[in-house]
Amino acid sequence: MASSLTKGAASQETPASRSDKTLFGHPRGLAFLFLTEMWERFSYYGMRALLVVYLIAGGPDAKPGSQGGGLAMPEASSLAIYSVYVAMVYLLAMPGGWFGDRVWGPRKTVAIAASVIMAGHLILALPGKPSFFAGLAVVAIGSGLLKSNISTMVGHLYDGPEDPRRDGGFTLFYIGINMGGLAAPLVIGTVGQKVNWHLGFAIAAMGMALGLVIFLLGTRNLDPKSSQVPTPLTAAERNMWLKKGLVWLAVAAVFYGIVIGSGVFTVNWALVPIALLGLFVPVSVLTRIKRDKELTHSEQTKVSGYIFFFIAAAVFWMIFDQAGSTMSLFAEKKTTDNIAGFNFPSTWFQSVNSAWVVVLAPVFAALWLNLGRRNREPGTAVKFANAMLFAGLSFAVFAIAMAMASDGTKVSPMWLIMIYMLQTVGELCLSPVGLSLTTKMAPQKYASQMMGVWFLATTAGDCTTALLKTAGVNLNGTGVILGEAVVAAAAGAAIWAYRKRIATLMGDVH
Ligand code: GLN
Repeated sequence: MASSLTKGAASQETPASRSDKTLFGHPRGLAFLFLTEMWERFSYYGMRALLVVYLIAGGPDAKPGSQGGGLAMPEASSLAIYSVYVAMVYLLAMPGGWFGDRVWGPRKTVAIAASVIMAGHLILALPGKPSFFAGLAVVAIGSGLLKSNISTMVGHLYDGPEDPRRDGGFTLFYIGINMGGLAAPLVIGTVGQKVNWHLGFAIAAMGMALGLVIFLLGTRNLDPKSSQVPTPLTAAERNMWLKKGLVWLAVAAVFYGIVIGSGVFTVNWALVPIALLGLFVPVSVLTRIKRDKELTHSEQTKVSGYIFFFIAAAVFWMIFDQAGSTMSLFAEKKTTDNIAGFNFPSTWFQSVNSAWVVVLAPVFAALWLNLGRRNREPGTAVKFANAMLFAGLSFAVFAIAMAMASDGTKVSPMWLIMIYMLQTVGELCLSPVGLSLTTKMAPQKYASQMMGVWFLATTAGDCTTALLKTAGVNLNGTGVILGEAVVAAAAGAAIWAYRKRIATLMGDVH
């Protein structure tokens, strides 16, 4: 693939020492990173596809006649748990990047992370509520550790930002992510929803185990830089972090000790503080970077421009990540699970986004290349504005489908397929572009942490849905869905209107 969706991604590396062996012109290490991330995403998206249906299964909010044996939780808490879980996966990408940078180096961090994820899915494979929540936390920690480090290692494979193969490498990597995302609901979703939930989670563990084996087999093909710890933690810093961690642990233990002891504990006592944290962290991280006196004037200006993109991305992911929550419930309860006489489990709908990515990614890569040749490739702000408009459009269509189903009729699967197509067009204008932009606009001092900052936009978006849900808002209501569509479209229109001003803030980045 000649062009890419991720122009200039991870541009901070120095030239890497290269192995002569290549695979279709790309460093051989790419194949191993591609397959590792494919299996990691297979486990992540497979479990994500099951999450909400498993939480409500066997309870009053489950679809009549559906498989029991879930946690029988109310729909509202289930949706909030889902959003908080997904938010944490992306929040933890930031400390994950820090571990790669300062403690273990990216290669060792990924190997440890994959083992942690596998352990998490195995814990989920055990029946019962305590093991479920423990497993969820372990998977979130592992995924956070893995996500930013594996992306950084892709960058290490190429000779700096000017390597002509680099963009194509990131495009292939994004396709790998989505091949995992495509297969996961079909395999894990079907087994979990139709045979046994816990067997589904166990298959997720097997997928991650395969990914880990492939990664370990491929480590000698990675760049030596992937094993280095760029800025090792000093003993004094380690003690300071340990002390801080213990203090916060003690504060949480005392707080929850009092709440549980006084008998008022409900799931919201866990969800609301975490969701608030998920909004507080992105705001404070961006504020800290923006106010850092050590940044040059041009770096500070770029950070101001980046904040526009960050807010837009948060709104985008808020809508996009509802694939596993509101849209999953719509698929389960209000959509026909039958095409031409063929019945399928509702989790299959969650493959549709990834299927569209696999189909459309090469089209977009060719489109940018073609427009670029004629000097007409849109700037980042315009791409982001388009992404927001498509996200808004997808939820406008969702609102129509929801209204059609309001009298109890089940709508055609074509509605969800169309909604996912619109979202994927938006995703391809925003997600790979955002990764690239993040590394290009990163101030030198924060270069290695910026990948984690980008993922915080997803955290902020998901925590917004979690808080709305815990506040009693009906996210499956037509009015709310339409409201979200309007917010996304308005954000897109604002970015479009201010595109020239944003371009000035971006300086030499386009
Ligand atoms: N779908 C992509 C992935 O799973 C991007 C998700 C995100 O950045 N929020 O990696």
